[in-house]
Amino acid sequence: KTTASETAGKEKFLAGIKHKVAVASGKGGVGKSTVAVNLAVALVKLGKKVGLLDADIYGPSIPLMLGVDEKPLYDGKKIQTIEKYGVHLMSLGFLIDNSEAVIWRGALVHRALQQLMSDVAWPELDIILFDMPPGTGDAQLTLSQSVSLDGAVIVSTPQDVALIDAIKGVQMFRKVNVPIMGIIENMSYFVCPHCGERTDIFDHGGVAKVCAQLETELLGEVPIDARIREGGDGGKPIVAMDPESPQSKVFLEIAQKM
Ligand code: ADP
Repeated sequence: KTTASETAGKEKFLAGIKHKVAVASGKGGVGKSTVAVNLAVALVKLGKKVGLLDADIYGPSIPLMLGVDEKPLYDGKKIQTIEKYGVHLMSLGFLIDNSEAVIWRGALVHRALQQLMSDVAWPELDIILFDMPPGTGDAQLTLSQSVSLDGAVIVSTPQDVALIDAIKGVQMFRKVNVPIMGIIENMSYFVCPHCGERTDIFDHGGVAKVCAQLETELLGEVPIDARIREGGDGGKPIVAMDPESPQSKVFLEIAQKM
């Protein structure tokens, strides 16, 4: 259990931000960053003041996905966030050279993450999303020890290989007293843009079963979709570019539950 003094220590970071939510996954490549970016923009569309902290040490990809190529300003005291599509962004990618492979020791992960919280001029926000690295490592530990997380959203694809690791992620957050808000099934199904036929490429429905087993909510099912991928790779998230599309509706419905 978290002690009162531990909780008090946590309040020094991001004190002006009402809700703090980790977006996590057990495995890499399941679309965690894609979901984080679209959820952040969806929350803006719902009228919230939103921050996004890209803490994915293995590949901080949020600046690319939001089409940000400038570096943040430093005013001598604090690093300024960059605002894109209404989202206040800070990324580990701004602090390191992306072309260099970085081997992160635990202590370094800890320091870098804390810097992204303490040395950044985060404005007053309704909610901040943390795009976490995949797995259950040092970054997750640092975050859960440094801030009072209101919850974690887990992203998984429907196949067993992804689900096994998603379950580990849920168990890890529960162990450090972070409530699981639910799981999102990404790449859940495919709808042919020509004939409308639906195909369950990765065996749709795996996440629903795991949610029942773990007594947590299935937050939504995001289809595998060319426009979602193009939006991410092109720096124009679908929720920002075409909020009325059926793909965007899925993200908006999930954001409403947060
Ligand atoms: P992670 O953060 O889990 O490593 P990413 O969000 O970087 O995963 O996604 C990996 C790749 O899959 C990216 O090229 C992204 O555009 C693509 N992708 C993610 N979700 C979807 C989706 N629902 N439909 C199509 N492509 C997707």
